[in-house]
Amino acid sequence: MIEEHGSGRPSTPLSAARRIVVKVGSALLVDAGTGRLNRAWLKTLIADLLRLRRRGQQVILVSSGAVALGRRQLGLAAGTLRLEESQAAAAVGQIRLAHAYKELLEATGVTVAQVLLTLEDSEQRTRYLNARATLEALLRLQALPVINENDTVATAELRYGDNDRLAARVAQMASADCLVLLSDVDGLYTSDPNRHPDARFIERVLRITPEIEAMAGRPSSTVGSGGMATKIAAARIAVNAGCHMCIASGHHRHPIRRIERVARCTWFIPAATPLAARKQWIAGTLRPAGAMHIDAGALRALRSGKSLLPAGVTATLGRFESGDTVSVLSADGAEVARGISAYSDSDAARIIGRQSSEIEAVLGFRGREELIHRDDLVILHLGYDAQGRASPASQFDRDGMEEPADGPGLSGFSLKVQP
Ligand code: GLU
Repeated sequence: MIEEHGSGRPSTPLSAARRIVVKVGSALLVDAGTGRLNRAWLKTLIADLLRLRRRGQQVILVSSGAVALGRRQLGLAAGTLRLEESQAAAAVGQIRLAHAYKELLEATGVTVAQVLLTLEDSEQRTRYLNARATLEALLRLQALPVINENDTVATAELRYGDNDRLAARVAQMASADCLVLLSDVDGLYTSDPNRHPDARFIERVLRITPEIEAMAGRPSSTVGSGGMATKIAAARIAVNAGCHMCIASGHHRHPIRRIERVARCTWFIPAATPLAARKQWIAGTLRPAGAMHIDAGALRALRSGKSLLPAGVTATLGRFESGDTVSVLSADGAEVARGISAYSDSDAARIIGRQSSEIEAVLGFRGREELIHRDDLVILHLGYDAQGRASPASQFDRDGMEEPADGPGLSGFSLKVQP
């Protein structure tokens, strides 16, 4: 995976990535002795992020540190906090954290955007899609999103609790192709290197096997709440979403630049691209919520890689919300594609057969031009047997994937992932 380029410098998935999520843990951001923000170090991290942006890469930062900063300010004693204490600490710490990011980033001319997420934002489809659209808009507008869990309102049962998994969900949500977890360890070892001097370092993980999970052991860091176990859980989410993930030490200045230059770290390698992983997930929806009939012109357009526009849809079937997966049916009723509808069934019914330019006048709001965007659409190639059932001989075209992503597998479908 590490290839030499003309410059003689190794090329890593980080250099090749289009969209990168960097997660920084509390243990790096907040000095354990004083409870203050490590500003000098943070400046070097920010310089690294800006360097990525200058190279044309998009960056999202997931930052911990709210609870650690707030507890000092509130004078809370060392040790485990009660839930309401950590929520109070987060409320106090988050505003300080946001202030620091605003100050440091705006001094360099970059607009910072604070996004606080709860577990429901990644688990409920409409909220997930909203958050996804917001991140997309922020990146398009060149802002740098700084994300944390909304600890102040998260409940004990409904929280990520650690920013490793939060960062992986963010990477998935944003279809990022690289996630970097900056941590107090430099990667994964066969066992805890502090207790086992013969522990071997793992540079590259192609499959997260039970052996890999066993290497993670139990959480150990004292300031943050994650440990190797949550990092492996994060890796599972990331690679299933087609995203590379790296665990690297942040205990140095310019921690991101170091990954590309010298530092050793552990890379988790996905089997697919984010787009292919997402399409596989869409195709694997067991029960599409509804359906749309399309005309022959729209079918040709879909097969040539275009989005589904309202003009090509002749009827909608069933009840669905925007964000639900629907079947796309040809004039003779065969399922030819699946995709995520940008509109609910009732809104869709009002705009089908019309030009996209009419959507705003009909619905009274400016929605997407496409009923199903090409990135949210999967073309299915079905072979039928005599009874009209999907032929078992049909194959799932893995498109370079080694194993299916999250979600049910496909049987009877051959999936063509459009570039
Ligand atoms: N969200 C927590 C905070 O900002 C940190 C969670 C973690 O340590 O991973 O303090």
